[in-house]
Amino acid sequence: MRNPDRRVWIGGQWIEIVQRLDLDHFGEFNSFPKPEIVLGPIRNDIAAMTLIHEMLEAACEVLDVKMKESEIRCLEHCIAALIVRSPQTVDWIISELRNSEKNCKAENIGVE
Ligand SMILES: [Zn+2]
Repeated sequence: MRNPDRRVWIGGQWIEIVQRLDLDHFGEFNSFPKPEIVLGPIRNDIAAMTLIHEMLEAACEVLDVKMKESEIRCLEHCIAALIVRSPQTVDWIISELRNSEKNCKAENIGVE
């Protein structure tokens, strides 16, 4: 897995991403003893899909939202397709959200 980020920000907290070569399935989210996403020994493209899936699992757990496995899979595929087929929209969203975050930080420290 070559994801440069070893953690993801979900529901107000950092959740570590680790890979375990002995995992016998694609991935899992563990909330205990510390929240972490575990990926198995899988190809990078499968790891990317699995990471989307496990981030959704983590969000449901952290935010106490109940979703069926089939609903999470549906969203996983929807988000993956959005990223692949509408990359400019995704880039625009990222850019605008970063600007928004910068503006919030600037307002918080009194800078315009
Ligand atoms: Zn699942």
